Amino acid sequence: GPRIGVLALQGDVREHLAALSEAGALAEAVRRPAELAAVDAVVIPGGESTTMSHLLNVFDLFDPLRERLAAGMPAYGSCAGMIMLASTILDTRADARHLDALDITVRRNAFGRQVESFETDLEFTGITDRPGDALMRAVFIRAPWVESIAPEVEVLAQVPEGPAQGRIVAVRQGNVLATSFHPEVTGDRRVHQYFVDMVRAPGA
Ligand code: GLN
Repeated sequence: GPRIGVLALQGDVREHLAALSEAGALAEAVRRPAELAAVDAVVIPGGESTTMSHLLNVFDLFDPLRERLAAGMPAYGSCAGMIMLASTILDTRADARHLDALDITVRRNAFGRQVESFETDLEFTGITDRPGDALMRAVFIRAPWVESIAPEVEVLAQVPEGPAQGRIVAVRQGNVLATSFHPEVTGDRRVHQYFVDMVRAPGA
């Protein structure tokens, strides 16, 4: 399988490593520039985006990562990872840096302070629309939503019901995938499989 790195500065790294392995990738933790250089693609996990931004600077990974992304390396960001990949972030700290690999505007902690965490079953384009595939359980933890997208960004999932109905929570632009929610915690490997397939056939 392809070598896929999980950015391992902070957040739920082990869950992504396990999910990627189960989806057929060679999954490796990435903490140094040399480790980043060795992988074909990267996953940016959930965690806390302002902390992750700070740690990317401290570990001298910010610029190499941004350069690889600009050169077309496939990437998947979940929750804080989605925030890191976005081109515009609402409600963040002025000094927080982000990777600008996905033409979306993301709102941090968008579901409100009271809504620490919730779950819902949703449709995911390219996955749940295949014959026989069930809806996807989506776990949101202090999650962002996608406030707006550029025309070249494809919407893959939206909140199906409730006060946030219709909010965009999964997107793809070329080789870059992002979800507001955490598929690595549910045991459902379909999002990781989708990403591994993307890495195997970039641009398909
Ligand atoms: N609220 C976090 C942030 O703004 C993201 C939460 C998560 O990744 N589960 O970075």
